[in-house]
Amino acid sequence: MNLIQKANQTYLKHFNKETYFERALFFSWYCGLGDCTFCYMSINQTKQDPKKAKRTFSSILAETLISKELNWKIEFISGGYQSYTKKELLFLIKAIHSITKEKQWLNIGTLNKKELTMFKPFTKGYAGTIETVNWELRKKVCPSKTLQPILKTFQHCDELKLKKAITIILGLGETIKDFQNLKQFIKQHKISKVTFYTLNPHPGTPFKNPPTKKYASKWIAKTRIEFPKLHIIAGAWIDKTDYYSALLKAGANNITKMPSIRKFNSKELKNIESEVKKAGRIFKSKLTKLPDINWDKKILSLNPKIFPNELKKEITIKLNKYLKQMKKHN
Ligand code: SF4
Repeated sequence: MNLIQKANQTYLKHFNKETYFERALFFSWYCGLGDCTFCYMSINQTKQDPKKAKRTFSSILAETLISKELNWKIEFISGGYQSYTKKELLFLIKAIHSITKEKQWLNIGTLNKKELTMFKPFTKGYAGTIETVNWELRKKVCPSKTLQPILKTFQHCDELKLKKAITIILGLGETIKDFQNLKQFIKQHKISKVTFYTLNPHPGTPFKNPPTKKYASKWIAKTRIEFPKLHIIAGAWIDKTDYYSALLKAGANNITKMPSIRKFNSKELKNIESEVKKAGRIFKSKLTKLPDINWDKKILSLNPKIFPNELKKEITIKLNKYLKQMKKHN
């Protein structure tokens, strides 16, 4: 039995065949660091104003509603949190919780104990953007995003009994030998969820070649075999939809990363559905067919204590814009 077969068998021993698309819900595109060498932020040097580089509540909540109705899980809430006041953030997290009926993962920079305590009623855990476990390489590719504040946030999570997740980007210059570091890190910090992204090289950055699906699958398979019950998410950009059957066979639970609203029902997303099938999984999320939903009724039924009428009206406008976009590939 080869590595992938062993990983697939391990997966099937612990999980059913259902697979979901998980969408990262972006709050803002502000970043206070801006110098990770693989990130498009590192080439866009214009100083952002955190208060302006953010989405409206209605846009975020319309997207949440679509995600809920199309069976997309929220991978995490993401973005630089300096864009919102703590009160605004708390409101957003509470509103998302009210729509999804699920506690959320936060990927909004490092957080102190007071902040985590405030968000805790609506929060499952915190995701640390580790990016690479080759620690020497990490100093070069994430010069300002140091490890210590992330580890400190993990410590607060332990004290507050919140879960911990990490994100890893494959293709930054690490090799499979670095897997030992990942294994140790997951064990030491009791990580319960890992997202593996395959690098999407941005023009203008020093990166040219994305990792192969074979290489990415090897990381996932080794992780699955070592940690049979870990929640693993795999993400490859829209030009690599052919990676997904391999990543799922290697033991990923769910998939992420696609621009599912902009590309809804496109040939790429249709291909994702066949890839999931090819991996022997049952795809529970909708990426190609809009269900027949009375959206006005859905919005009207939102809790009035959280969603005042004015906000409901704004959500309706945004939602209709998104739905129009989603019908573009019909
Ligand atoms: S922290 Fe790094 S990876 Fe994240 S947005 Fe900023 S520059 Fe990009």
